[in-house]
Amino acid sequence: FAPWNDPSAKPYIAFENITKAFGSFIAVNDLTLHVFQREFFALLGASGCGKSTLLRMLAGFEQPTSGRILLDGQEMSGIPPYRRPVNMMFQSYALFPHMTVEKNIAFGLKQDGMAKSEIEDRVAQMLKLVKLEQFGKRKPHQLSGGQRQRVALARSIAKRPKVLLLDEPLGALDKKLREETQFELMDLQQELGLTFMVVTHDQEEAMTMADRIAIMDRGQVKQVATPAEVYEAPNSRFVADFIGSVTLFEGKVEKAEGNRIEIAGTDGFPIRAESAVAVTPGATVHYAIRPEKIRLTKARPADPSVNAAEGEIWDIAYLGDMTVFHVRLASGKVIKISQMNATREAEEPFGWDEQAWVSFPANAGIVLTS
Ligand code: ATP
Repeated sequence: FAPWNDPSAKPYIAFENITKAFGSFIAVNDLTLHVFQREFFALLGASGCGKSTLLRMLAGFEQPTSGRILLDGQEMSGIPPYRRPVNMMFQSYALFPHMTVEKNIAFGLKQDGMAKSEIEDRVAQMLKLVKLEQFGKRKPHQLSGGQRQRVALARSIAKRPKVLLLDEPLGALDKKLREETQFELMDLQQELGLTFMVVTHDQEEAMTMADRIAIMDRGQVKQVATPAEVYEAPNSRFVADFIGSVTLFEGKVEKAEGNRIEIAGTDGFPIRAESAVAVTPGATVHYAIRPEKIRLTKARPADPSVNAAEGEIWDIAYLGDMTVFHVRLASGKVIKISQMNATREAEEPFGWDEQAWVSFPANAGIVLTS
């Protein structure tokens, strides 16, 4: 499933040059974004970057200042929220406290004038889908947070919208429940064949659930890509730094031969790199490297072609599945290294304040020019 790689595939949701201003404040700035049918799409970004505003414009609760939104080829401007084939689920769930679970789910269907027997069937179907068959007669306060979340979900898909918009859908759940529910949401989306657009500021959540992620910053999209791509091939320092952990080395390109370059680092050691983009000598670039790509050894690695620097172990954190080290170079730069405990080089136990070498081959990191 990768319609975005098919040049003939038509986007299902298209934001075209959307700008949204609140007074003099630009919340969304000339943003273009395409989402495909049946895609699980995540909008990821820091608080205030415009994620929710984008969803609200698609749902029809806000009007774009300029630009247009198309859904399945149809222009949405002028179409009121209730006539859009879109439903929105909010973080607060907004369940009616005095109504039973069944009545909460039935509410929208009733408003639409659906026949009573049909409503009953649909509600039963929804309860089964979210595994709450036994809970139909309860009121929201008699449910756990996770159960309430599932009622809200059932209610928002009961009308069978083509697109479900989820604004921080799992924000109110604790970590463990959130992780479980992420997989439930993915299964549900698959089963129903709906298009999901989810807003989150939790990158793990976006990485887990989404087919593709748009990383937003101050009303603009910085990169749209699959979780693996945003992690392994970020297009900018912003994305590299935003997704996962990274150490960034800044330097000037000394030599460039094809894709092999040498960067004169500001941290006291030269870095050999392989650049996916063309760079010329003299240019300032960043070399971004993930913690799991760095080796930690007591002696300098024998291979002279790998990048290596000596430092001091600043701290060690044991996290169960992995151990995280911070190593401080003479320049003061602190480098993060992670090692999976199951595959760790057991013969090299390290202690705090010890001298150690960090090393990484040229192709372990990414050269970034912006
Ligand atoms: P969060 O994760 O905190 O919900 P977000 O990325 O969803 O953030 P938005 O809710 O889209 O952010 O808001 C984007 C910016 O627009 C914020 O700076 C916010 O203060 C501003 N904004 C949103 N709605 C309005 C409004 N009705 N009037 C004025 N400013 C608004």
